[in-house]
Amino acid sequence: MTIARLALDVPLYRLFDYRVEESPRLRVGLRVKAPFGNFGNREKIGVIVELAEKSELPPEQLKTAELLDDELPPLTPDFFRLCEFASQYYQAPLGEVILQALPPGLKKLHPPQRRARKLKAGKPVKTAPALPDLNAEQEAAVHAVQTRQDYAPFLLYGVTGSGKTEVYLRLIALQLAKGKQVLLLAPEINLTPQLEARLTTRFPNTLIVMLHSDLGEAARERAWRCAFQGEARIVVGTRLSVFTPMPDLGLIIVDEEHDASYKQQDGMRYSARDLAVFRARLAKLPIVLGSATPSLESWAHAGHNRYTLLCLRERAVSGAQLPAIRVLDTRRMKLADGLSPQLIEALRQRLAAKEQSLVFLNRRGYAPVLACPACGWISRCPRCAANRVVHLADQRLRCHHCGLETRIPRACPTCGNQDILPFGRGTQRLESMLAGVFPDARILRVDRDSAKNRKQWEALLAQIQAGEADILVGTQMLAKGHDFPRLTLVGVVGADAALFAADWRAPERLFAQLMQVSGRAGRADLPGEVILQSEYPEHPLYRAITAHDYPGYAETLLNERRQAGFPPYAYQAILRAEAASMETALTFLQQAANLPCVQDYPDVALYDPIPMRLFRLMNQERAQLLIESPSRPQLQAFLPVWRETLATLPRKNKLRWHIEVDPLEF
Ligand SMILES: [Zn+2]
Ligand SMILES: [Zn+2]
Repeated sequence: MTIARLALDVPLYRLFDYRVEESPRLRVGLRVKAPFGNFGNREKIGVIVELAEKSELPPEQLKTAELLDDELPPLTPDFFRLCEFASQYYQAPLGEVILQALPPGLKKLHPPQRRARKLKAGKPVKTAPALPDLNAEQEAAVHAVQTRQDYAPFLLYGVTGSGKTEVYLRLIALQLAKGKQVLLLAPEINLTPQLEARLTTRFPNTLIVMLHSDLGEAARERAWRCAFQGEARIVVGTRLSVFTPMPDLGLIIVDEEHDASYKQQDGMRYSARDLAVFRARLAKLPIVLGSATPSLESWAHAGHNRYTLLCLRERAVSGAQLPAIRVLDTRRMKLADGLSPQLIEALRQRLAAKEQSLVFLNRRGYAPVLACPACGWISRCPRCAANRVVHLADQRLRCHHCGLETRIPRACPTCGNQDILPFGRGTQRLESMLAGVFPDARILRVDRDSAKNRKQWEALLAQIQAGEADILVGTQMLAKGHDFPRLTLVGVVGADAALFAADWRAPERLFAQLMQVSGRAGRADLPGEVILQSEYPEHPLYRAITAHDYPGYAETLLNERRQAGFPPYAYQAILRAEAASMETALTFLQQAANLPCVQDYPDVALYDPIPMRLFRLMNQERAQLLIESPSRPQLQAFLPVWRETLATLPRKNKLRWHIEVDPLEF
């Protein structure tokens, strides 16, 4: 008999010792079926993390686990090393990391059996598609990466429309020719239809799999197996795919590396981009992080020569110019429902010329709040520290944080006043307003309400591509990576709101968003124009946008961060607590801050516990404690010691807590 230490899908994710039958197949990384619970009457799937001769448990307490009769080879040492790193760095139990890295189907005793359609490459194509010419900068970028076979991190900074994807495609082709696999991370599923299409056209004889959480369980497991067994040569996935074991991995690409959706916001809170870099280092591979507006962290790495900077400063389609961006001072202007006469006139001209326009407003719904002017009632969410949003399209008041919804009341629930009014503006209101001004225009709204799933989203994209819409009204969903050849005008409204947000990362995010959305204008042979309405036209952020000056603005922000001692010049973690009362949460955090072990780490600073900005979510009161250090090793040494002590603190009233390393939101 041998002892196997198992990662099991059970609360707290402790590792458990089991007996296993000797077998020539027995290896670390195989899956087993293990009895669980007091009477051993439930079964769980586990992964063997370690094999040993003996256990610290008395023999009579050891239950026996059985190897699964499954053709899946054992998970590789590389996979475990990546999981171990993630577990240490992000302060998450190893078992949790391992299990969340696997597709759900592999963790079930009886996974749903669906038609096991075999994945295969498209029909064999003899004639290779004609490749677009590379410009000199693209050529240089491809050359720089292709010559490296060891760990080499690259930051590919390319203005919108500069042909970053073409660089990726060339690099992928080179890897495939060498018999290697490529992992391409993309931030959100809504981006992938176009990317997927480009890949399948370019590599018709190659098996390409997509890995994302919108896939059905069976499909996801199938794609994962194909990647792990080396059949799939290109894996395109969202953040969860960063763990996918690939036997012949030769290159990792992280597209839109600045995108916040690479950060997992619950369970094990990790950054897939940062893990991708670690994975490349571990496997001694080149990695390319691409963006038109790199994260300040990556930009700073490039500045210190930790990453090699590759620049694409020109648009790839020859003659295509960056759009002319104009900030329109609306302070002394009479706006019609938030739209300036200039923007309306510009929209009118595009309609006459049969070109497309996009009006960008990053707030969905009809209005952010419903209010009663008579008594001051507003549509607060009873469960969250937030307002419920007016959705006129389906007559609902909906909380965007917890999902709670009710019908829009006919009268004020407090005083009975019938003249309750929606305040502020969301995409639905903008849409109906535009429909009033341009009754003959075909207006299409694109946000999470109109594109709830991939199917709806693809249908909307197809409609736009086919020229079936004249004016698009959309949120950031429309801002990312799409190519609409007839789109020549972008109007931006309501951007000022993010300018003075309390979150110190807000300017970085707003800049990226505005740069992305501006990049939608004029991508082919038609010149583009961007009109940005603002009451603060002199703001440095807008000046930088107008000048298309990402490097300049990044320098400004980095200087501010250096002076303020913010990341990337300091390292942070956050301890959050949630409880039925704010007092319970704050008391716990204060106890955590007062623990004696804190004194042993003089370079680690703990701030006062404070309520979170969204201080109530689904009836839970939330508070946080910021931990900061100028030294990453110091912070990393402190956190596990502290976490262990935290786990021993008495917890009242179902209080829950977690630690997040490198938090993006506060
Ligand atoms: Zn009222
Ligand atoms: Zn709510």
